[in-house]
Amino acid sequence: MRSIDDMFLEMNKIAGEEGYRFNPDREELANLLEGLWVNEHRYGYPLCPCRLGYGELAQDMDIICPCNYRDADIAEFGSCLCTLYVDEEWGDTKVHEPVPERRPGEYFIKGYPAIIEQKGAGGKDMAEVYRCQVCGYLCAREEAPDLCPICRAKKERFEKFGMK
Ligand code: SF4
Repeated sequence: MRSIDDMFLEMNKIAGEEGYRFNPDREELANLLEGLWVNEHRYGYPLCPCRLGYGELAQDMDIICPCNYRDADIAEFGSCLCTLYVDEEWGDTKVHEPVPERRPGEYFIKGYPAIIEQKGAGGKDMAEVYRCQVCGYLCAREEAPDLCPICRAKKERFEKFGMK
């Protein structure tokens, strides 16, 4: 298993390439990274440190960091739910309103795979679903992630995942 430092180096590289920033508060950042690292050791994947997951990969796919909700949260509130990723102005503001949970509650109740199946890839309120051809990781996004958060496979290894 990679160390926290290695995990952060890797995340930092990808964030830099994608134009993302991390929380500038060192203590908050260290706590969030530790939470991610603990989850990676506990579950085998970096589950969001501020959400409750099932502890099963298939159920938690949308909340593996960086989660499916990060980009929309940063665009609307200046940070992701956990405040691990922030925008340029975030550090200049002293008080931040809490970011509301964007993940629909039914994802937790019914499970992520059931919801994807029910709504279908590209459905009314879902982005396209992409599947990592190396490890099977599924994510619903506008486009495939640059790097699979599970096996680190590159974007080219993702395919559109069609469901009825
Ligand atoms: S991007 Fe932020 S909210 Fe999303 S999983 Fe990572 S730490 Fe949690």
